[in-house]
Amino acid sequence: MSGEPEAEGDDGLEARLKAYEGRAAAVACRGKDPVNAPMIRHWCEALGDAHPAYAGPDPVAPPTMLQVWTMGGLSGHGRRARAYDELLGLLDEAGCTAVVATDCEQEYVRPLRPGDEITFDAVIESVSGPKTTRLGTGWFVTTRTDVRVGADLAGTHRFRILKYAPARPRTGPTRTGSPRTGVPRTGPPGADNPRTDNPRPRPVVNRDNAGFWEGVARRRLLIQRCAGCGVLRFPWLPGCGACGCPDWDTVEASGEGTVHSYVVVHHPPAPGFDPPYAVALVELAEGVRMVSNVVGLPCDDVRIGLPVRLAFQADGEEPVLPLFRPREEAA
Ligand code: ZN
Repeated sequence: MSGEPEAEGDDGLEARLKAYEGRAAAVACRGKDPVNAPMIRHWCEALGDAHPAYAGPDPVAPPTMLQVWTMGGLSGHGRRARAYDELLGLLDEAGCTAVVATDCEQEYVRPLRPGDEITFDAVIESVSGPKTTRLGTGWFVTTRTDVRVGADLAGTHRFRILKYAPARPRTGPTRTGSPRTGVPRTGPPGADNPRTDNPRPRPVVNRDNAGFWEGVARRRLLIQRCAGCGVLRFPWLPGCGACGCPDWDTVEASGEGTVHSYVVVHHPPAPGFDPPYAVALVELAEGVRMVSNVVGLPCDDVRIGLPVRLAFQADGEEPVLPLFRPREEAA
């Protein structure tokens, strides 16, 4: 393809980048605060997680807080290793000046409790590419942070970024969608599957949410249901937050919902999105909530309590995304 950057096919570059695999990304870092009950409480309140293990006289920290204890805040840690900066510099020189975080994976080995003092190191685990994505061609850089309490490994946090050369902007007019409705560039008026020349980023599919995206590909919105206690959950998770059971099946959402809350995004512009557009927290008829876009009406008309209905929208050929339209229009 004519738009490929120089990085592709540069064997010398690949060898130089691969040489960074296994090198340190951060060395001998310490958590800024010990694991502590106030931060656990704030986290649980923000996420609405009332699990009793996280409260009371002898709480554990939610496992998903693992990265929290490693965060340096605005003042940072100042312990990023030179190898990591060198690697990013090489990619910059190769034209891969843009960066996007793609996904993270965590493994939990040992519970963290208030008073635990954590230390951590990070290693450049892999550099893979060049890979051509809709954003552009670039390299995936995965770092693995090992979080410890004393000599004990508490968990690992893998964080992956894509350093890429932004795809060459297309020439000619690319924005024919209505800025008032937030609907991306569309095909024939009234088409159910609007297409866009400025495609949205693809969803990150992992082993926890693969079933959800398989459902979406078949135009079905699937909600997880705990096999132990029957509680529905969304987004998809590997276990039940109510009873801890790892087994589940799915129920198909009716597609009916109401806008529980929303924001209208005016700024900043991002690839694949045409501001203004409405991002809503939709409460499905089944009781779970999901974040999506409300399309098909002026952003100013989106309101809390608006009845909406699921409307799958193909963004080009792929990915298919679950969106919501006002219920009157979808009927
Ligand atoms: Zn359950």
